[in-house]
This record gives sequence, structure tokens and C-alpha cells, in this order.
Amino acid sequence: MTALTRRDLLRGVALVGVGSAAGAAAVHAHGDDTVWQIDPELCGQCGRCATHCVHPESAVKAVHVHALCGHCDLCTAFFEPDSKLDTGAENQLCPTGAIRRRFIEDPYFSYEIDEQLCIGCAKCVKGCAMFGNGSMFLQIRHDRCNNCNACSIADACPAHAIRRVPASTPYLLKSAH
Ligand code: SF4
Ligand code: SF4
Ligand code: SF4
Repeated sequence: MTALTRRDLLRGVALVGVGSAAGAAAVHAHGDDTVWQIDPELCGQCGRCATHCVHPESAVKAVHVHALCGHCDLCTAFFEPDSKLDTGAENQLCPTGAIRRRFIEDPYFSYEIDEQLCIGCAKCVKGCAMFGNGSMFLQIRHDRCNNCNACSIADACPAHAIRRVPASTPYLLKSAH
């Protein structure tokens, strides 16, 4: 991969497929042209998104808006509490090793989510919300979601964070502005 600078990251977004032409094309719209989506401002990171989807592998994935990220060395979305910057697997919060940490320039790091490995468990989201900028959050991926008449995660969500949104704007992304 080409070297990124922190300036590139502050400008940018690396939400692969989310909100892109490819992502929009994959939307399975309901009869009323709506789809289910998570409101990141309401999600309480309970973990049910990983376990209550009708798919064995949840349609929910974490996404990361780099322009909101502090690029912290001690990232509370990446490290277990008290892990003292040791990047061994046992010190990583993500149960599947889906977050890639990369040095950018002293003292900044980038964090990227490998969607193939992400199970939507929200641990990183919770870690980022506690001490970081909230730049990681969950979204229902419409290239995976069946757009069920009744979303079983929405039924189980204790925060009532999942609602139908227009299929023309299928993602509720946080913005740097
Ligand atoms: S079920 Fe609701 S509160 Fe729990 S992680 Fe999913 S969206 Fe967030
Ligand atoms: S901690 Fe959970 S939600 Fe975050 S990247 Fe890993 S599997 Fe996905
Ligand atoms: S609508 Fe169905 S496939 Fe989509 S996230 Fe909800 S339960 Fe999973």
C-alpha cells in the first residue's frame, strides 16, 4: 500500500464500499424504498448486532471515519485496557484481529478495519466512544443485508437505534463537520 500521511487521513475516508456507487448498487430496497440502518448516535454498543442477525455472519460491520480519528498511539478501540502499547494479539480488543494498526508519522497511527474479519461485535466502537472521538461505529452493510421485513436486530436492540431510512441514502455516517 502507498504511504499515507496524517494529512491524507484528515482529508479522507476509507469506508470501503459504504456510500460508494458499488455499495449503493447493492441495496435491497423494501417495497417502500427503505432499508434498515443503525443510528450511530443512539447505539449503546450492547453487542447484539453480532448475534441477532438472521445471517450466521452478521450483516453489521464496524466502519471508520478517518477524518474524525485522533490517530492515537494508545488507541482505546484497538488496545485492551492496561495493555501498555504491546500490540500482541492478547492485548487487542478486537476478538477477530480485524483492526490493522499502521504507523503514519510520529506520534500518529492509522487504524483500518478488515471487513472480512469484522463480526460487528461493537467492542471497538465502545472503546473509541469511551476515550476517543467516536470515529468507529456500526453500520448495516447493504451488500450483505436481506432487508428483512422485520429486522431481528432492530427487534432486539435495547437502544431502539435501528430504523428504516430511504434506500437512496442507505448509510448514516458520522461526519467530520
Ligand atoms: S443492538 Fe442496538 S445498541 Fe446493540 S450494538 Fe446493535 S445497534 Fe448498538
Ligand atoms: S472489535 Fe468487533 S466490531 Fe470492532 S472491528 Fe473487531 S469484530 Fe468488528
Ligand atoms: S434486516 Fe435481516 S439481514 Fe439485515 S441486518 Fe436485520 S436481520 Fe440482518
